[in-house]
Amino acid sequence: MKVIYHQDFNQSYCSDPAAAPGRIEAVVKVIRNRVVFVEAIPASEEDIAAVHTQSHIKRVKSEEIYDIAALAAGGAIQAAEIGLAEPCFALIRPPGHHASEGSAWGFCYFNNMAVAIEKLKRENRIQKALILDIDLHFGDGTVNILDGNGYVTIYNPSASHPEAYLKSVKDFLFSLKADIIGVSAGFDNHADDWGGLLSTDDYKEIGRLVKKASMMHGGGCFAILEGGYNHSVLGQNVMAFIEGMGGA
Ligand SMILES: [Zn+2]
Repeated sequence: MKVIYHQDFNQSYCSDPAAAPGRIEAVVKVIRNRVVFVEAIPASEEDIAAVHTQSHIKRVKSEEIYDIAALAAGGAIQAAEIGLAEPCFALIRPPGHHASEGSAWGFCYFNNMAVAIEKLKRENRIQKALILDIDLHFGDGTVNILDGNGYVTIYNPSASHPEAYLKSVKDFLFSLKADIIGVSAGFDNHADDWGGLLSTDDYKEIGRLVKKASMMHGGGCFAILEGGYNHSVLGQNVMAFIEGMGGA
């Protein structure tokens, strides 16, 4: 599978856990011989301004995080565009699902998912999108930006048992026909990460369900990295998800 990536994502642009040294490297180490890397290209300011206010963009610039945040948003756009034709994963940071139009928190700056989905819609390449957010944390920014737009349905599963979690994911994915399924792929709900719930095989199953649902809808699918903070298991979880989403 194609994986959008850039060496600059290894930078420690600040001191939060999403930017921790070695985090992206830990994933690259596991997946590098099993995927095809495509170099990320920064999102244009126009694409970012389509979902964020000027004052928010100005603030991100003043924190000197604009370049890396624009690169992450651009990687999400590439994954979504490739995703229309074949499953694609964006290995990017900073994450984005806690970024709203005019504010952001939780290690996020620009809403990578919203920037990507809005671009596809603006260019008339999709009519309907499903967003599955499997990060441990509720993707409030994505909901704030996209939920009222009429063409996006967002689901943040929150079951306390893996079986119920997977069932709710499945029910969502097959509930509505969509041209694209975008996954905000956070891995911080893994058994050995902050949430302590899902197994590595569960991520493979989620990837498989996403692919299967997109094929059934006659549409595409893509995923972008959000959270996931235990470097010793993050790589295997990303790989498992990619295997599931890339499989037959
Ligand atoms: Zn999270």
